[in-house]
Amino acid sequence: MTDAIVFLGIQGSGKGTQAKILAEKSGYQHVNIGDLFREQIAGGSKLGLEVKSIIARGDLVSDELVFDLVNSSLCADCPGIIFDGFPRTPAQAEFLMANYRVKRVYYLSLSEEDAISRIEARRVCGDCGENFNLISRIPKQEGVCDVCGGQLKQRADDTGDAIKQRVKEFYAQTYALKEFFAKKGVLHTISADNGIQDIGREIMQDLQNL
Ligand SMILES: [Zn+2]
Repeated sequence: MTDAIVFLGIQGSGKGTQAKILAEKSGYQHVNIGDLFREQIAGGSKLGLEVKSIIARGDLVSDELVFDLVNSSLCADCPGIIFDGFPRTPAQAEFLMANYRVKRVYYLSLSEEDAISRIEARRVCGDCGENFNLISRIPKQEGVCDVCGGQLKQRADDTGDAIKQRVKEFYAQTYALKEFFAKKGVLHTISADNGIQDIGREIMQDLQNL
């Protein structure tokens, strides 16, 4: 079985950043489920077309399809995998435990209030897709991408009630996952209020002590 490390946390908790940092340090493959879906849809694969039609119908993508996607996207010679945005449901968590050697599940905890203000501060480059945040990753020049000079914008679903609804759903969903992984003895909770480097250091130390 392949080693796996999981990052759980709401958007704005910095889990994607930590997953990326850890992937660079460990050589593990970083698997972001949202990105995988977008890649498959953009590439027009059979799986991508299926997912596209499900989303167009307004239905949720089934656990089985998520598993197919995960299985079809793994690199053969990576020492391990870092899951970001997966699992989302208890069934996905069971699948994970059954198919991978889960070393740790890092939960980056953040209050609902802070989560909302962090999401509202997000900006994305319209040209290259680089992510910024007016609180934690401020662009050098206001409204301009540091990487390519493109214009920064706010995603339509990063405003107002759409955020509140998403935050609420996230906490309801994640509560069950935390309980599940805590019982398995693999959950490690870190406050997302700590700085990016402090969190990274805590994770490295924890992994070294496993
Ligand atoms: Zn850019």
